[in-house]
Amino acid sequence: MWVQRLLGRSPGELRLCRQISARIVNESNVEVRPEKEAKPLTFPGVWLRDNCLCEECFHGSSKSRKLDWDKFDTRIRPVSLQTDELAQEVSVKWSDAHESRFSLGWLKDRSFEGRRQEEYLREFYRPATRHWAGAEFQQVAQHFSYDEVMSKDSVLMQWLQALAVYGVALLRGAPLDEGVVRRLAERVGFIRRTTYGEEFVVQAKPGAQNFAYLSLPLPLHTDLPYYEYKPSVNILHCVVQTESAGGSNMLVDGFHIADILRRDHPADFERLCRVVVDWNDIGSEDGREFHNIWRAPVICLDAAGRYTRVNHSVPQRDSHFNVPLEEVLPWYESYARFVRLAIADSHAFKTRPGDVLTFNNIRLLHGRTGYDDSEASPRYIVGAYLDWDIIYSRLRVLKKRLEPGCQ
Ligand SMILES: [Zn+2]
Repeated sequence: MWVQRLLGRSPGELRLCRQISARIVNESNVEVRPEKEAKPLTFPGVWLRDNCLCEECFHGSSKSRKLDWDKFDTRIRPVSLQTDELAQEVSVKWSDAHESRFSLGWLKDRSFEGRRQEEYLREFYRPATRHWAGAEFQQVAQHFSYDEVMSKDSVLMQWLQALAVYGVALLRGAPLDEGVVRRLAERVGFIRRTTYGEEFVVQAKPGAQNFAYLSLPLPLHTDLPYYEYKPSVNILHCVVQTESAGGSNMLVDGFHIADILRRDHPADFERLCRVVVDWNDIGSEDGREFHNIWRAPVICLDAAGRYTRVNHSVPQRDSHFNVPLEEVLPWYESYARFVRLAIADSHAFKTRPGDVLTFNNIRLLHGRTGYDDSEASPRYIVGAYLDWDIIYSRLRVLKKRLEPGCQ
């Protein structure tokens, strides 16, 4: 096919459009120059062979590799290359007599160049986070219209992008019914169910026995630190807001607090990243007893040292603390510093009926100031959770559709 295409053209024509070139380097790599003068891109032969897109090696409709890996030869070598200007393709003949074809676009997308990989990870895999101090809250917390999020994919994408970058975003103008959180979650994907069900209501329980109608302040915390798979994003829909002075939400960027510790108190930072804490929750819901435990540090890092999550809850930290004796007091000192810094940096604001507050539960700490809950001054918030897997997936699908070439 390749030869036929070339034969159909005059030598002059060939020279004019000759742009792609490819050569074998170090016996096992393929170097492709996408166009004249362009910087060559190097692709390991083993990786190219592993990613052959022919019908024998790749299942097109499921976009999945079906290569027989029981027999895969990691010492495979390219033996000859051909380029096709018209189709913008490079074909490779291998030492196992197999032949593969790769389009230039496909190769460029998967370039091993550091800059391209960074861009892919930042733009497409997961947007880079921007950490913020409490004083910056007004600038970073973007507002979106609930109706537009529900009706326009571009606005849905902007909301999810803001949530991924800043960990918080506010939707305005939602109807005052109990179905809002479900409709919103289903616009993205589906509600994340927990021990406490799907939708939950945050409301002081009426009755004389209940702290004389006083709703106590809720200290800063992350929800469900005692789950291995923590719900990722809180959706809190304000249906009725108290007229009393309290009832404000408090938020703080846990990643920003971790940044401060890392910079100013490295020993505390190191300890909070290393010491594994037992988080727990014991109780019963709908007649079913539960006993949840998950052990994890307060600050969790990935292999590259980036934050993946923070855990903080005073009530839901287990009295079992499975660490060496000598770790205990230093850990308490470090944790107390983390908590004090978080309290000092937290930003308080009050949502209004029709507001939907959305924030990253595994990054931000949240709480609520106390309020006077009475018949005359009720407060009624409906909540639900979404998972990051579902949100990022939706975001990628939207980006592919609305921002072609982003990937
Ligand atoms: Zn193949």
